[in-house]
Amino acid sequence: MTIGMMNVIQIQRRIAQLQQQLLALGPLHPGSISEQYNVCGNPGCRCKDSKKPQKHGPYYQLSYTWQGKSSTRFLRPEQVEEMRQKVANYKRLRELMNEWVGLAVERERAERAEEKHHRGD
Ligand SMILES: [Zn+2]
Repeated sequence: MTIGMMNVIQIQRRIAQLQQQLLALGPLHPGSISEQYNVCGNPGCRCKDSKKPQKHGPYYQLSYTWQGKSSTRFLRPEQVEEMRQKVANYKRLRELMNEWVGLAVERERAERAEEKHHRGD
């Protein structure tokens, strides 16, 4: 069922589903996780090998902007999986909220259309 073809009851049902999904979201965090590979200052190190340099890493970084302030910090390897889940949950939260707001707008439209229909004009 595409938006624009739903009646008020269908829209209400979908909003109720979204609310349940929002309640079920676990811990969340904004941002994204990136992997970094570095070169060190040690002249004889494998990261400086002329034929097959092997850089150090991966190092994991979390970057996010919240209330206008950007932050970046390193994650320990054992923190990465949990943070990936939190970042995914945040993305899901935004998707669910967007759909809810879209439905709220659509609901207003559908209500006006149905009132018009009942009045018979
Ligand atoms: Zn090195």
